[in-house]
Amino acid sequence: MKKGELLFEGNEKQVYATDNPDQVIFRYKDVTVAYNNVKRARFIGKGALNNKISAILLNYLNQNGVETHFIEILGEKEQLCRKIEIIPLQVVVHNRIAGSLAARLGVEEGFRHPNTIVDLRYNNDFLEDPFINRDHAFALGLATYQELDEMYNIARRVNELLKPLFHKAGIELVDMKLEFGRASDTGSIIISDEISPDTCRLWDEKTGERMDKDRFRLDLSCVVENYNNVLTRLKQVTES
Ligand code: 5GP
Repeated sequence: MKKGELLFEGNEKQVYATDNPDQVIFRYKDVTVAYNNVKRARFIGKGALNNKISAILLNYLNQNGVETHFIEILGEKEQLCRKIEIIPLQVVVHNRIAGSLAARLGVEEGFRHPNTIVDLRYNNDFLEDPFINRDHAFALGLATYQELDEMYNIARRVNELLKPLFHKAGIELVDMKLEFGRASDTGSIIISDEISPDTCRLWDEKTGERMDKDRFRLDLSCVVENYNNVLTRLKQVTES
């Protein structure tokens, strides 16, 4: 397999073509951005850590019947993925209220609720990723109602699989953002982006310490050390 031209460069990732039209290479960068690119920094080692963490989680989902774009790790910062047609939506799953949802609902961060909350956002930097509903998504031609149903069902299934996996590692999966695409080979709806401490809120179950991107957002120290801790613990529970 040969690495081809750069197809896309985002803040935190690059996507390269390969000689297989249905496969691309994802390269994870050390750059971190937050608050719609207002805040930006570089953490040496972050890209490699997210590549490895995401590979573990996506591989775990593949093995448990949830189709994702992940195929295999290629190197420190790179993974081979299935090519997809991007669906510009973010499906956000909440197990506890935190972050922007706490502000939106006017409750304390950490508020526990008995149900799983699923939010839908339009992935659009210019509009600052606004919350939308299924009708808006359909009206904008972003997805059909059937595809939206599928995305909600897959998101709930991902949560049912990853919550206990993180729990085994002594980590609480507070919330996570998922993205989907249509696989270029089969057309099926699959998970199409990373799942990592950049896209999830992860709290240490014993100490309550944040182990995710909030360390950067909130100017807490030890970003890379915490991501490394997540990787070490996930390796322990998936390799044993
Ligand atoms: P919030 O709405 O509090 O910013 O985010 C809720 C969850 O989704 C958090 O785990 C957060 O990391 C993730 N999330 C939401 N929007 C984005 C985004 O644009 N980029 C990334 N990487 N994660 C996001």
